[in-house]
Amino acid sequence: MPKFEKLTLPNEGEIITFNQGKPNVPNNPIVPFIRGDGTGVDIWPATQIVLDSAIKKSYGDERKINWFKVYAGDEACELYGTYNYLPQDTIEAIKHFGVAIKGPLTTPIGGGIRSLNVALRQIFDLYSCVRPCKYYSGTPSPHKNPQNLDVIVYRENTEDIYMGIEWEAEDNNCLELINHLNNVVIPKSKNLKNRSIPDGSGIGIKPVSKSGSQRHIRKAIEHAKRLSGDKRHVTLVHKGNIMKYTEGAFRDWGYELKLTNNKKAFICEEIKEVIASISNSHGDGKWRELILVDDRIADSIFQQIQTRPQEYSILATLNLNGDYVSDAAAAIVGGLGMAPGANIGDNAAIFEATHGTAPKHAGLNKINPGSVILSGVMMLEYFGWDEAANLITNGLSKAIEQKKVTYDLARLMEPKVEPLSCSSFAEEIISNF
Ligand code: NAP
Repeated sequence: MPKFEKLTLPNEGEIITFNQGKPNVPNNPIVPFIRGDGTGVDIWPATQIVLDSAIKKSYGDERKINWFKVYAGDEACELYGTYNYLPQDTIEAIKHFGVAIKGPLTTPIGGGIRSLNVALRQIFDLYSCVRPCKYYSGTPSPHKNPQNLDVIVYRENTEDIYMGIEWEAEDNNCLELINHLNNVVIPKSKNLKNRSIPDGSGIGIKPVSKSGSQRHIRKAIEHAKRLSGDKRHVTLVHKGNIMKYTEGAFRDWGYELKLTNNKKAFICEEIKEVIASISNSHGDGKWRELILVDDRIADSIFQQIQTRPQEYSILATLNLNGDYVSDAAAAIVGGLGMAPGANIGDNAAIFEATHGTAPKHAGLNKINPGSVILSGVMMLEYFGWDEAANLITNGLSKAIEQKKVTYDLARLMEPKVEPLSCSSFAEEIISNF
C-alpha cells in the first residue's frame, strides 16, 4: 500500500487487479474518485447517489463501492498548493487501485500541464478512449431519427498529433527542423519530389505506431465480440487517402491484425456478400457469428452516421478523428450533457464526463449529471455489474420519457417543460428503479 501525504483511505474494501488487460473486481472494491472542478460540485454528488442506490437495489449488502476521494484540478491546488494540479498522491492512488472515475477538470493555465485529462491518459497508458453514443427515448435531438444511431467510438488515446510534439513558428528549434527537412530529408525522399515547408511555419508531428494502433484496434474487436447480430462490426475510420503512412497505416495494421491473429474470427466487408450468397449451402450461415471489419474514410463517416447510422456499430479510429467524430455522434443523440466516456488501458481505467467544467453553471445545482452518471454505468458494466448498470439506464430513460429533465434538455422540448435541478434529476432516476 503506498503512503499518502494527504488522503484518507476508506475503512474497508479491496483492490481491483488486472490480468492480461481484464479487471478482476471484488465485491467491495475501493474506487478513487475525482470530484471535478466547476460543475463537478453538482454532478459528482448526484452521480454517487445514483450509483450507490442502483448497487444497493441490485445486490443488497453483497456488493458495494468504497469511494476514495482523491484530488486533481483546482481542488488539488487548494489542498496541495499552487500549480499542484495533479498531486503524486492521486497518481499513486489510481495506480494502486486501478479503476477511477472523475468529473470535469479545468485545463490549467500555467504550471506546465497542457491538459489534466491528457496527462492522466498518458501517465496510466489508457490507450483506448471509449465513447458510446446511443439515444435515450424522449431526448430532444436535432435529428429526425436519432434512435437509429447506436455507435461506440474507440478513439486511440496516446499517439497522433495529441502527443503535443510541436514547435512554434520562428522558434529556433523550429527553424532548425524546417531547414533540416527542406535541405536534407525531403531531397532524399523520392516520393516528396521538390516539396518544401514554407518559411514561418509552425511544425507538429503526428506519430502513429503499429503496436499502438494494433493494441487499440484489438480492444475494439474484443468489444465487438461481446455484441450480437449486426453489431458485431468494427469500422476502421481513417484519412489514409491523404496521410498514407499514419492514418493509412492504421487501417492496414488493423486488417493485418485480424488476418494474423485469428483467421477464423473475422471477415472483412469485401467477402461478406459472397459468403452471404452461398451461406445456405455452405457453412449454415455461421459466418454471421464472426466480426465484420471494414473501413471508411473519416470525412465520409461524418456523413454516414447521419445518413445511414444503423449500418455502424464500433468506430475504431485515431486520436484527433475520434475527438471530432465522438462529439458529432453525441450531438445527434442529444448533446454532450448525456455523453459518457471511459479511458481504458491494460492496468488501469478512468471513467469520465466528456464535457468540461461549464463554470458559469457551477454550484447552481442546475447542470445535467447524465454524462458522469452514464460514465458510472460504463464502469459498472466494466465490473460486470450489469444488473445495476441496467437499472440506471432504464431509470434515466424513464425520467427522460416523462420529461423530468434538467434545463439543457427541458429548453429543447416541445412544448417547453419546467426543468428539474441536478439533484432532483438524480432522485427521479432513482425513483424509476
Ligand atoms: P464546457 O465546460 O463543456 O461547457 C460548454 C457548454 O456546454 C456549457 O456552457 C453548457 O452549455 C454545455 N454543458 C457543459 N456541461 C454540461 C452538462 N453537464 N449538462 C448540460 N450542458 C452542459 O466547455 P468550456 O466552457 O469550453 O470549458 C470549460 C473548462 O472545461 C475549460 O477549462 C476546459 O478546458 C475544460 N474541459 C474539460 C474537459 C474534461 O474534463 N473532460 C472537457 C472539455 C473541457 P449552455 O451554457 O449553453 O447550457
